Amino acid sequence: MNYSLIEKYFQYLPIKHEKNIVSLVEGNTPLVELTSLMSLFNNQYRVFAKIEGFNPTGSFKDRGMTVAISQAKEVGAKAIICASTGNTSASAAAYAAKAKMKAFVLLPSGKIAHGKLAQAIMYGAEIIQIEGNFDDAMTLVKALSQKLPIALVNSVNPHRLAGQKTAAFEIIETLAEAPDYHALPVGNAGNISAYWMGYKEFFCLKKSKKLPKMLGYQAEGAAPFIHNKPIATPETLATAIRIGNPQSWELAQQAAIGSAGWFASISDEEILTAQRLLARVEGIFCEPASAISIAGLFKDIHLGKIEKGSTIVCTLTGNGLKDSDVVMKHHQHSIVTLNPQAHVIQNHLEKNI
Ligand SMILES: *Cc1c(COP(=O)(O)O)cnc(C)c1O
Repeated sequence: MNYSLIEKYFQYLPIKHEKNIVSLVEGNTPLVELTSLMSLFNNQYRVFAKIEGFNPTGSFKDRGMTVAISQAKEVGAKAIICASTGNTSASAAAYAAKAKMKAFVLLPSGKIAHGKLAQAIMYGAEIIQIEGNFDDAMTLVKALSQKLPIALVNSVNPHRLAGQKTAAFEIIETLAEAPDYHALPVGNAGNISAYWMGYKEFFCLKKSKKLPKMLGYQAEGAAPFIHNKPIATPETLATAIRIGNPQSWELAQQAAIGSAGWFASISDEEILTAQRLLARVEGIFCEPASAISIAGLFKDIHLGKIEKGSTIVCTLTGNGLKDSDVVMKHHQHSIVTLNPQAHVIQNHLEKNI
């Protein structure tokens, strides 16, 4: 039997009646130990990846969206709206389709990975591109959702965070306690806030004896938490975290500081290196924004900030297939073109065996 995330954690979530659940069977994602990667560090750490690319639309956004859309249904909403760097629009569109609601999505023109845009188109969302960045789109949808009878499903909607905290529940259930550190990418900062909520909730219920230190990683060109102020023109190839004015600023600060964790910034080059390494040694293909949790962990291990012998969970927020543009742009040289003759190809194989 496949349970929806809301059925599984019904008592912890704000949905009142099971008949209102809108689900695509999300959550319950794999927690995979990265043994090959950690052998590079003489196995001095235990590192697990929470692979959120296994969700129905390929990102963790589905955990929050099942709750946000179910709640919208519960209050009789007919339409929903969101601003998005890509994955929120894909997820919102899919759950709205299932709920027979109209979905409007506002996107920064030219800055959405094609896989994500294709999803929003196929799920039938009304797609509006603007000449502006995510933060501009966010300002617009917040104002419009107050004027019109349209429910806002960005992560400023507390039901999104309620759904997303279930990833922390699953990790505690799998490991039998919380990890020592939890690393994840930070864009709008909803997810780091949601995990911290989830860890604290299960800690209070005595399902874990400890709480993790929360490590939030931002791209160098889009790192408001490092500069301690919003960034007017954020830039990074990790489009999912190309955000200059995080909506969950206070909550994320509480997560990092309250857990004795920290924020750090990572270059686009380090992101690409980690993304490729993860694919090549572990067989796990995540999108660039997701790889920042691995890149950040590597950097902090090298800086001596991670205690030896500790257990770390890295959230891989989205599936690598969503952003094949990045791969084709940066890894073209991985393909050779040869004449279709046996001896030519044999020669190439012999040289590379
Ligand atoms: C949305 C998203 C993020 C950022 O999550 P926030 O809650 O906005 O901090 C990171 N990675 C991927 C793949 C995303 O879709």
